[in-house]
Amino acid sequence: MLDAGADLIHFDVMDNHYVPNLTIGPLVLQSLRKAGIDCIMDVHLMVKPVDRLIGDFLGAGADIISIHPESTEHLHRTLTLIREGGASPGIVFNPATPLTVLDEVLELVDLVLIMSVNPGFGGQSFIESSLAKVAAARARIEATGRPVRLEIDGGIKAGNIRRAADAGADTFVAGSAIFASDDYRGTIAAMRAALE
Ligand code: ZN
Repeated sequence: MLDAGADLIHFDVMDNHYVPNLTIGPLVLQSLRKAGIDCIMDVHLMVKPVDRLIGDFLGAGADIISIHPESTEHLHRTLTLIREGGASPGIVFNPATPLTVLDEVLELVDLVLIMSVNPGFGGQSFIESSLAKVAAARARIEATGRPVRLEIDGGIKAGNIRRAADAGADTFVAGSAIFASDDYRGTIAAMRAALE
């Protein structure tokens, strides 16, 4: 199941505080590593406070750790903690969070994640205005000349993945679209076909 076309595994970590849901912790990542899963582990932390948990996810084998600016009082410091711990830092923007903060920290991150739903629950429908935000983030990334991933998360499916790519996204998170379908492999294939 996990290797059905995935370049990376995206873990939505929710804490029943920053977001209302409660999901997985670092032990799950650690178990997957022990079971031989060697693809990129992309950890999206929706937790507050966030700093204390970063060490746990670094120790569990996370490759990318992304955080929301709202989850820390000291964003620069938290992103630096992730880098110094040996992982790639990412920054995540909620639908109502402006990109302006990105100008201050873009040099510190390897990934920018645009939320195309509000974080906290699966199965929400795609917010169209997030495509304009993806395009704006792409322009900022291009201006740096650095290889920064631009990821989109929320409501992505075969019917809209092409538009997300056209807006500038290069990494796509799909949860419900795949796991609520009868045929995971076929659904992923349809998404890949839409990107060709
Ligand atoms: Zn996510």
